[in-house]
Amino acid sequence: MSWKETKLYSILNFKCPRCHEGDMFEKGTLFNYRRFSRMNDKCSCCGQTFEPEPGFYYGAMFISYGFSTALFVLVWIMLSFLVEEVTLTMMVLTLIIIVVGLLPLTFRLSRSIWLNIFVKYQGPCQPQK
Ligand SMILES: [Zn+2]
Repeated sequence: MSWKETKLYSILNFKCPRCHEGDMFEKGTLFNYRRFSRMNDKCSCCGQTFEPEPGFYYGAMFISYGFSTALFVLVWIMLSFLVEEVTLTMMVLTLIIIVVGLLPLTFRLSRSIWLNIFVKYQGPCQPQK
């Protein structure tokens, strides 16, 4: 099994989970705050829809909640190494900066993971008729 056939490849590169070819999101918009959330409707290669049903990505919120919690813990640990006493203001400010800064990334990762849970890899793309 090559790297390109793994779920991790699809997740980290935001590729279509079915063929690992088409992009889930518009290219080059990751750090464009107006456009990072825009998804392509379907895979440009195999035609897999990226929104199987309305509200499909509701569940992806739990994954992004998990990311936020992990970030929270990470920030706490880092701060306690850097300063003698971690104040609440310090904690909240750092967290806001990091969570907002990484929002496009966590947003896309959680959707990418979520879609990968439901759509299985079916080998290289078979062009749609
Ligand atoms: Zn595809």
